[in-house]
Amino acid sequence: DLDTQGWQVLDRAHYLHPFTDHAGLRQTGSRVAVRGEGIYVWDTEGKRIIDGLSGLGCVNIGYGRRELVTAAAEQMLELSYCQSFFKTTHRTAVRLAEKLTSMLPGHLNHVFFQSSGSEANETATRLARRYWDLEGKPGKKLFIARELAYHGSTHMAASLSGIPPMHYAGGDIPLSNVHHIRTAYQYRHGAGMDAAEFGVVAAGWLEEKILELGADNVAAFIAEPAQSAGGALCPPETYWPEIQRICRKYDVLLIADEVVMGFGRTGKWFGLYKYGIEPDIMQLGKGITSGYLPLSATVIGDRVADTLIDKGGEWAHGYTYSGHPTCCAVALENIRILDEEKIIENADATLVPLFKAGIESFADHPLIGDARCVGLMGGLEIVKDKKTRESYAYEAHIGDHCSAEALKRGLAFRANGDTMSLMPPLITTPDQLAEIFAIAREALDATAKHFGV
Ligand code: PLP
Repeated sequence: DLDTQGWQVLDRAHYLHPFTDHAGLRQTGSRVAVRGEGIYVWDTEGKRIIDGLSGLGCVNIGYGRRELVTAAAEQMLELSYCQSFFKTTHRTAVRLAEKLTSMLPGHLNHVFFQSSGSEANETATRLARRYWDLEGKPGKKLFIARELAYHGSTHMAASLSGIPPMHYAGGDIPLSNVHHIRTAYQYRHGAGMDAAEFGVVAAGWLEEKILELGADNVAAFIAEPAQSAGGALCPPETYWPEIQRICRKYDVLLIADEVVMGFGRTGKWFGLYKYGIEPDIMQLGKGITSGYLPLSATVIGDRVADTLIDKGGEWAHGYTYSGHPTCCAVALENIRILDEEKIIENADATLVPLFKAGIESFADHPLIGDARCVGLMGGLEIVKDKKTRESYAYEAHIGDHCSAEALKRGLAFRANGDTMSLMPPLITTPDQLAEIFAIAREALDATAKHFGV
């Protein structure tokens, strides 16, 4: 029965939020969300917000689907929990593992479950190390990841992430077995090159790093098909085939973090279909349940799985909630809805072209230096000077200003540094998309005015 202020006081008193400046939060207070339906979320003031970000890139199917609630309730009543450590399994996890592998290329035949994307990356990297140990190459210990990557917040996942503030946020990270290369960020690293040429150049940074470290020391390269939290960084078409070639040439495992890209974000079911990636290991999360419950999956190719199974004995790794029945039931129902309602195919056919046109229409906005997208993930990079590509000083917090302007007008529009990101739910209608872009433009105009542009 509290009003907004009452909730904000309690929030500040007891609840520490992820990735939040809590002193700053004392000044502004939090928006208190109470209900969601479709692409909308309402707060305690009755204000309706369009969720232009699908939560954190997870609510692909939209809020409030009752079928998912029913699936969870039925599973809880039947078998609310089941461990699978001690020669026990349960039908829902088996069904989901079978379903996922049936949707993926033939060599991806095994699935390990966790609750979060961070944990999936822990599984993937431990598994890569385990694989090389079992193959008699214990020297292959190093991981190569990319600048501006986001892979999660546990020690290894934060180390793999290429976002420096995360490395100062506690812990001796990045761990010493992680190395970073430049990413396929053409606006910053490929000026003057055409996209095809840049893709090959950017992939070459991986080869350089492998040669520098020594191929006998490198366990795996890990990357998102396209980078989300780094600021909607979408590689040219030539990038991934070249990465694939380099990994094969030097016998380096390829790990694809599809925690955001999986389940439709690129307009295809998985980013690997969009870009033609054949990973040895891939991680899924977020959209696997459309964010209704926490679940992630590490999908493992035959090469690694066969070694683990045939040579490995017990692999001492796992989580209490690995394969949680209720989460698996919700994932199965989410996949059924995505499939039967052809949500991804429809989004790809109708929404993706509109989204691309909408994003690209900002290219001539006085604040926008680069407008880029893949599928239903887009980024608008704010710059101070479009000619020199100079950014605003960090202290100006121009992206945060733009976010706040959008929120005032009813749109969640995230600032990743100075890049404004949009990742609308896949069920957004063309009219709703037009409204999203109209509000985004108003927010950018208001920001330009405030900064005297
Ligand atoms: N990998 C990617 C690409 C992500 O974007 C995220 C989260 O945003 C993660 C991993 C970590 O997932 P989680 O927050 O569920 O641990």
